[in-house]
Amino acid sequence: MKIKSEQELFSQSQSHLTWPSREVSLQKFQDFNPSRYAKTRNFLNGHISQMSPQIKHGVIQNRELLSIIRDKFNFVESEKFIQELAWRDFWRSYAYNHPDQLWTDVEEYKTGFRPNDYLDNLPDDISKGETPTQLINYFIQELIQTGYLHNHARMYLASYVVHFRRVKWQEGAKFFLTHLLDGDIASNNFSWQWIASTFAGKPYIFNLENAYKYCHQTLSIDPQQNVEIDGSYEEISARLFPNL
Ligand SMILES: Cc1cc2nc3c(=O)[nH]c(=O)nc-3n(C[C@H](O)[C@H](O)[C@H](O)COP(=O)(O)OP(=O)(O)OC[C@H]3O[C@@H](n4cnc5c(N)ncnc54)[C@H](O)[C@@H]3O)c2cc1C
Repeated sequence: MKIKSEQELFSQSQSHLTWPSREVSLQKFQDFNPSRYAKTRNFLNGHISQMSPQIKHGVIQNRELLSIIRDKFNFVESEKFIQELAWRDFWRSYAYNHPDQLWTDVEEYKTGFRPNDYLDNLPDDISKGETPTQLINYFIQELIQTGYLHNHARMYLASYVVHFRRVKWQEGAKFFLTHLLDGDIASNNFSWQWIASTFAGKPYIFNLENAYKYCHQTLSIDPQQNVEIDGSYEEISARLFPNL
């Protein structure tokens, strides 16, 4: 596999997209409430910081955000947000110590499949946002048009690519790095490996019921157009991982 850098991948698409200035972002962050974040962050319309492009490109440092938060809130109120900030540092430090694992499986898949069972290329309907699943198409279009996706949407989309369509996680990771304004090879690729189960004890899967709970206030979801992801967790696991 030819490995490309973040910059090479990103320059293939969204370099025309921009993000608010440092001043605008810091001003907006004054209204950020970590307690609300902890309660609502998994909902598509939840209270999140949207600071990732600024952090990624060094425009704003984690420690600046920490200092703003610590001045206004106690540890219990801010704990969840601090943990999430720390994930980024964890992935970066893991990548620094294991650069060889950025594009190779850290462990075997825990799906009953071997790496060769996964597709080598991202199917066209995924790269164009024309899959049989309406919800997934929303996310792909949003990613392509805005260069940003909510964390939960990233998880659903990555799970769809690797488990529902059985595509190698590396292909999905490249697709994200091509479009994300916050594209970061460490956070991105190890998150993909976590979803895939090559850096986790089990694969991350979801179903329509779960997606409906977190997305229906923002998106109109028609069950008839989301048949592929409909079913109980037991049914979906049996369908996706018949060898287990
Ligand atoms: C498949 C997949 C790919 C991802 N790719 C990237 C990527 O390329 N670049 C990137 O910065 N994040 C990535 N993430 C992590 C996370 O989705 C984004 O950091 C987050 O959605 C950015 O939105 P926010 O700034 O509102 O985050 P908030 O929830 O407000 O969090 C604040 C900051 O903490 C950090 N952070 C939060 N959650 C995570 C996390 N799970 N892992 C690492 N850092 C986190 C980010 O720097 C973020 O800006 C990925 C997650 C998944 C599941």
